[in-house]
Amino acid sequence: MKAFAATVASIALVASTAASQSDQAVAVTRAGSQPSVMGPASSFTGAVRVGSRFQARPPARAGGGIVTFEPGARTAWHTHPLGQTLIVTAGAGLVQHWGGPVQEIGPGDIVWIPPGVKHWHGAAASAGMTHVAIAEALDGKAVDWLEHVSDEQYRRR
Ligand code: MN
Repeated sequence: MKAFAATVASIALVASTAASQSDQAVAVTRAGSQPSVMGPASSFTGAVRVGSRFQARPPARAGGGIVTFEPGARTAWHTHPLGQTLIVTAGAGLVQHWGGPVQEIGPGDIVWIPPGVKHWHGAAASAGMTHVAIAEALDGKAVDWLEHVSDEQYRRR
């Protein structure tokens, strides 16, 4: 009798899994199926391209993309309400929080930006840099943009 009950339970589980299959299906977004976009001049200095952009479906709230900076290109100063993780995949980069040192970052390095911390990130002057960027949204917002990073601030080392 116990075995029968277990069988019924497992059939019910299978039926319920089939019913919700569309919600549970793994979704693959193919490379090149969505266009990359240039980082707007209001939020970036220099040429910055963002590809593989993603936004998790609620209740998940992670979003981001793969960001490529040409030499000398960088974000404006900004903050993330729930912080941000950067994973450098290529090139030579720089990152700085307000009042802190400019730090060099390279392939394989992982950078954690705490919530609300004013910072910028970008490429070194003589080499481009690519990083994966992931940030969770709070009330639908993942970044608050501030002023541009001046050439003087960028060169200060
Ligand atoms: Mn950031």
